[in-house]
Amino acid sequence: MPPPKFGLAKTEKVMEMTGGRCWYCGDPAGVIDRVLATTHGGSDNYGNLVPACAPCAARKGDCKIEEFRARLALRNGWRFTAAQTAYLASLNMTLPPAPAVTFFFEREGLRSRPAPVPG
Ligand SMILES: [Zn+2]
Repeated sequence: MPPPKFGLAKTEKVMEMTGGRCWYCGDPAGVIDRVLATTHGGSDNYGNLVPACAPCAARKGDCKIEEFRARLALRNGWRFTAAQTAYLASLNMTLPPAPAVTFFFEREGLRSRPAPVPG
């Protein structure tokens, strides 16, 4: 097994945030994910690191949390991307509500630390 990407002590501390559950879905976590990807200026500070399961980390990729939520809504049957939804709204088109996607950390009332999770 390869050494943890962020070091053992940091990995254990991040995993403690959720008791080893995925920040996004609540399944057992196996990796550490940056909430804000390095491509968007995210750091390796504790406030930006969360436990994640491999499927959520892969699905999220480097997109921001609300983009990830929109991506999951598409998986749940929603037909429009965030850009398409905004465009249709600008035409005053009324759309049915998108399927609600609530992340594990929201259901549990968890917060990243020390900084709030960037949108
Ligand atoms: Zn997950």
